Amino acid sequence: MKKSMLFASVTVCLITAGVPAFAHEAHEHGTARINLSVEGQKVEIGLETPLASLISFEHAPETDAQKKELRDMATIMRKADTLFIFPTEARCRLEKVSLESEAISDGLLSPAGTPAAGAKGGKGETGSPGDKREDGEGHADLDAEISFICRHPEKLNRIEVDMFKAFPNLKEIEIQMVTPKGQGAAELTPQANVVKW
Ligand SMILES: [Zn+2]
Repeated sequence: MKKSMLFASVTVCLITAGVPAFAHEAHEHGTARINLSVEGQKVEIGLETPLASLISFEHAPETDAQKKELRDMATIMRKADTLFIFPTEARCRLEKVSLESEAISDGLLSPAGTPAAGAKGGKGETGSPGDKREDGEGHADLDAEISFICRHPEKLNRIEVDMFKAFPNLKEIEIQMVTPKGQGAAELTPQANVVKW
């Protein structure tokens, strides 16, 4: 009996030891990851970041101040053409921004005045019961999908990422790119926020 207990606990240790290392990799406060693809006239940006890189909490908002912080963040993210700057000659136009977080009900991330935003109830959370994380160690990401249409995609040769000014908690962005010129990767910081290809 004693022997099998010991074996069981060792096994658990091995399994859990692997998980945090991976989770750390994918969810590191202060960082974000961007996948950029340029195909024809379309530029698509997939952004994944811990909520803590953008705002001060990672759970459903509990106070009016937290709701405001969240809405302000969503408002900034929706103006994605001020966060991701392409050469003027490429004539890029922001086409779509969609924001999603497993910790936040959709209404709070939607633009004000849309049916989703209007549907939020008077008090309490509007999310499903599964949204609640009460383990004290809850972490949550924000996922954004952003697309631009560029009239002169042949002029696309760089992107300037201005998220650092808007979100001071954010210190580093790992960007991976697929463009007509091939694949590339770079690390962006507040001091080096432009990638060329
Ligand atoms: Zn976190």
